[in-house]
Amino acid sequence: GRSVHQIQSGQVIVDLQSVCKELVENSLDAGATSIEVRFKNNGLDSIEVQDNGSGIAPEDFETIALKHYTSKLSTYDDLSALTTFGFRGEALSSLCALSKFHIVTTRAADGPKGTKLEFEQSGKLKGTSVVAAKPGTTIVVETLFHNLPVRRKELEKTVKREYNKVLALLHAYACISTGVKFSVSNQVPKGKKTIAFATNSNPNTKENIANVYGTRTLIALVPLSLTLELDPSNRPGATQSARNWSTEEDGSRTVKVAGHISRPVVGEGRQTPDRQMLFVNSRPCLLPQVAKAFNEVYKSFNVMQSPFIFANIKLDTNAYDVNVSPDKRTILLHDQTALLESLKEALANLFEGHDQ
Ligand code: ADP
Ligand code: MG
Repeated sequence: GRSVHQIQSGQVIVDLQSVCKELVENSLDAGATSIEVRFKNNGLDSIEVQDNGSGIAPEDFETIALKHYTSKLSTYDDLSALTTFGFRGEALSSLCALSKFHIVTTRAADGPKGTKLEFEQSGKLKGTSVVAAKPGTTIVVETLFHNLPVRRKELEKTVKREYNKVLALLHAYACISTGVKFSVSNQVPKGKKTIAFATNSNPNTKENIANVYGTRTLIALVPLSLTLELDPSNRPGATQSARNWSTEEDGSRTVKVAGHISRPVVGEGRQTPDRQMLFVNSRPCLLPQVAKAFNEVYKSFNVMQSPFIFANIKLDTNAYDVNVSPDKRTILLHDQTALLESLKEALANLFEGHDQ
């Protein structure tokens, strides 16, 4: 029968995308400046993530794949001031339960040799051995869902689409992560290994976007830099007396949005599906309402159906809640209504002022 562990693990690792998300976030949390993701057979056979980050400390070997073990949170208070992607200690444990994930190779920057760690399905450390390895960590996930036949079948059926979803997510991480080199490849059976995309260690997101989508993409983009005033009485045009009503010292009422968006020129629109990336404090997120607001403004100016959007919303850590879904992709914005209103207004102003 299916263990409780397996069932719970299914909440963090729901698909190919969540595997890649968890592994790449672990690499970023480890301070990696180079991340290589290698798929075999679109991820059906294996997903391998290699980084040059801090490596895993020997004292953590026994525990990293146990449920709820994390080296990233020292007190519960840390949750509110979260700076790392991970904090639940569920990813490695879930991967042990749901895939033939047994092997991690790791070497600390100051470690003399690499260590190969092998785990049991329960997450218990089975054994270690000394191997040659570069500093950093390599994790291989083989045959995802091998022990859940229904999910495995479903994955086999939909893997092309799933793989494209994974690429879209990896694009987002690669575009937002300045100073981090990404390389993503796929090896199909009996075929050649193809490079899906690769970025350099760029100093800014614009060069990341050029690496991921091609330099030509930049021609159609303009920089986005908005300061949104969430308190309507504080916006330009409000009467002075209304303005005095607001709590101006409260910094959390102002939100900055920075990035790159399609140039709002009527008639120049080109379809750019899957190129809408939203971030909260540089964390790729699903924010359907925010995406909708962008699309609506473009539409109302008769510009294009599906603009390129790369927007990083910078918020106070107490202005949102990442703890909503196990995969942490769905974020709850406390002030969403005010933010959406203010965003649409600011975009409309930007488009009106644009020289057409
Ligand atoms: P979390 O990220 O929530 O802490 P995970 O299950 O994703 O939980 O990882 C468990 C632990 O394994 C991490 O806290 C970290 O100590 C270690 N770890 C995982 N991946 C890496 C990596 N690529 N580099 C260094 N340490 C890692
Ligand atoms: Mg993690």
